[in-house]
Amino acid sequence: MTRKQSKCFYCERMIEAGDYQVVCSYFMKLRHSEKIWTKTMHFHAKNPNCWLDRAIRELELRPYVERRGRKPDALSDEDRTARLRILRRRSSAMSRLRAEMEGEVRLYKILHLTEMMEKLKVEIEKVGGVPLKWEQIKSKQEGRSFDGYR
Ligand SMILES: [Zn+2]
Repeated sequence: MTRKQSKCFYCERMIEAGDYQVVCSYFMKLRHSEKIWTKTMHFHAKNPNCWLDRAIRELELRPYVERRGRKPDALSDEDRTARLRILRRRSSAMSRLRAEMEGEVRLYKILHLTEMMEKLKVEIEKVGGVPLKWEQIKSKQEGRSFDGYR
């Protein structure tokens, strides 16, 4: 909860000063660069409840998970948390990638984001497998269109 006005990452409307909000920060260090990426996302936490809406949407991705031989309930709480964290990072990377595609093309940024998504794929493989949805996005990338994701 903060008193600053900010934009909701989910509904893209302003969160007025004094409203409840959830703030998420991501820090990313890239292999061949000293730069640390930071991404802060704000969500309405009450009326509208964007934080929960978004979490629910992420949970809905789970039925599509390809489990590659694992039992459906094989994930520990810890793994499930790790998985959700990866899904969020991926989602954040996707929106930044989308923004890059719309603006002036900065190839190094696109490459970094793509590289990060490949890494996330390796990470999520260990905690429940790669969601089918990710594979679907990959085929869409060939046409440089990300519109189907949201
Ligand atoms: Zn919102």
